[in-house]
Parts: sequence; C-alpha cells; structure tokens
Amino acid sequence: MIKPIESQKDDGIDDDTSEYQWCLHCERAYKRGEHRLIDGLMMCPYKGCDGDTVMDGWSWPSVRENHPDYPEVPEKGKTYPLYS
Ligand SMILES: [Zn+2]
Repeated sequence: MIKPIESQKDDGIDDDTSEYQWCLHCERAYKRGEHRLIDGLMMCPYKGCDGDTVMDGWSWPSVRENHPDYPEVPEKGKTYPLYS
C-alpha cells in the first residue's frame, strides 16, 4: 500500500503526546514509559523482543492512522500488524 504524502510527517515519528507506544519489532503496544533496561538501553517491555523504545517505539496514534479499526487503547500483549 502506498501512503499519501500528506501523512508522511507522522510516520514513525513519536511526538510524545500519546499514552501508548507501539513496537516496530514485535508489533505490540505498551504504555509509554514501560521498558526493560538492558545495558543502559530502554528496550521494548515485551520479553524476547530486540526493539528499543526510542527508534522502534512508534506513537500509537500514528499506527492507528493506517488502521482506524484499531482501538484507542491497545490491548496488552496483542499484536497489531502495521501491514495487514
Ligand atoms: Zn517489541
């Protein structure tokens, strides 16, 4: 799917305004601030995931822009594929 240009500014950019973040690696959402501290890095809170919360943590609303069917409050532990 090709995304419209006007929405590009929001793609993957965490604007710090949402309460939830979504992990690019495991495609699960978590509450902002949740993480596992590994070697001084803030990693995705889900066990076994190698994503971090900085580069790989997208703001939940930017994911929902492409998926209006996703809930405002994401379910913990549930995967929300970006492309489906
Ligand atoms: Zn993850």
